[in-house]
Amino acid sequence: MSKKETFVTLEKLQEIDKTYPTPYHLYDEKGIRENAKRLKEAFSWNKGYKEYFAVKATPNPYILNILKDYGCGVDCASMAELMMGYALDYKGEDIMFSSNETPAEEYEYAAKIGAIINLDDITHIEFLDKILDGKFPETMSCRYNPGGYFKLGTDIMDNPGDSKYGMTHEQIIEAFKILKGKGVKNFGIHSFLASNTVTNEYYPTLAKILFELAVELKEATGVNIKFINLSGGIGIPYRPEQEANDIAVIGEGVHKAYDEVLVPAGMGDVSIYTELGRFMLAPYGCLVTKAIHEKHTHKEYIGVDACAANLMRPAIYGAYHHITVAGKEDAECDHMYDVVGSLCENNDKFAIDRMLPRIDKGDYIIIHDTGAHGFSMGYNYNGKLKSAELLLKENGDVQMIRRAETPKDYFATFDFSDILGKLNL
Ligand SMILES: *Cc1c(COP(=O)(O)O)cnc(C)c1O
Repeated sequence: MSKKETFVTLEKLQEIDKTYPTPYHLYDEKGIRENAKRLKEAFSWNKGYKEYFAVKATPNPYILNILKDYGCGVDCASMAELMMGYALDYKGEDIMFSSNETPAEEYEYAAKIGAIINLDDITHIEFLDKILDGKFPETMSCRYNPGGYFKLGTDIMDNPGDSKYGMTHEQIIEAFKILKGKGVKNFGIHSFLASNTVTNEYYPTLAKILFELAVELKEATGVNIKFINLSGGIGIPYRPEQEANDIAVIGEGVHKAYDEVLVPAGMGDVSIYTELGRFMLAPYGCLVTKAIHEKHTHKEYIGVDACAANLMRPAIYGAYHHITVAGKEDAECDHMYDVVGSLCENNDKFAIDRMLPRIDKGDYIIIHDTGAHGFSMGYNYNGKLKSAELLLKENGDVQMIRRAETPKDYFATFDFSDILGKLNL
């Protein structure tokens, strides 16, 4: 059981409020750094180890620059994400391009900036061949999907057989042969078989599957396997009753599989890559919002100044996000509330039937674990504007790392100056 603690106090929130109004996403630099350091240490046994942070989780240059201090590269899946990596001076192979259903111009750009291209499907070889005029990069990666269910013991973790990603066993062998014929020298294998796993067994189990595949691929095709990319999927305890993963144990589990499978096959020089997003950032960000209404009808509602446009996970996945009422950390949770946003959508609820301390108007509501797939999934439905992102620095200062949207941003993609002129934006 993990006690869900916040990294910010009521006093600090009151101080922030003088400069930055709620709602906003707040990130904890100290937590991000300590965690990145633990990850690096957990895989330090592997000489070529590298984490490619999944940019989609928290696409903010300031956050990426913090992770860069720990040797992290970036994992991108779109033109804008690639551009961000390039703008931040990530060099060539520090950028992984793990996309799917990829438009031609994105492949072209990825190749131009020297990113490692991770192919989602065998048919993309021909697609890429035309774009690159037959000139393939020296290093290429392919994404694998074994199908079926992904199990740990008897527990079903996820359903790769129903996932759109990756190549079958037969296809990946064929893909390696074709790419070798096109002059590719170094190969990577990538796979993402279960999401948000809260167990130390996921990575080691996945690693063993991929290590065995690597040995088979090397024997069948004679290619040089440069890296194995375990991708994302290491989860976090969103719920208080969940036990957090221990990244040191996970690193050792992968190490053991490496020594059992790759080393005896003479492949002890293969690099391990990861593309973690959630594990790197989720616990080190929170959405801070204020209670602005209370409503007593068929249920007890607390209306807050954030909405699903700031954090979509509860609305689209029914995801649990823990809530702390700032300053009432030790008060008894003797009130049952739905904590709701202002969208004209009845799924705009951050919590349903949640036992919380009594909430008063003006209370700060801290929604936990929004540091990954939080702000970045936001949208503009109902004309709602995206919030600011703030960084709580190690020295206690607060830095705005993205300003809040204004109506001018919302209207920026219209070109009806005759109509919008009236707004004087
Ligand atoms: C989303 C994604 C990740 C990151 O997943 P997390 O669950 O945040 O760790 C990594 N790689 C790829 C290809 C992804 O699509």
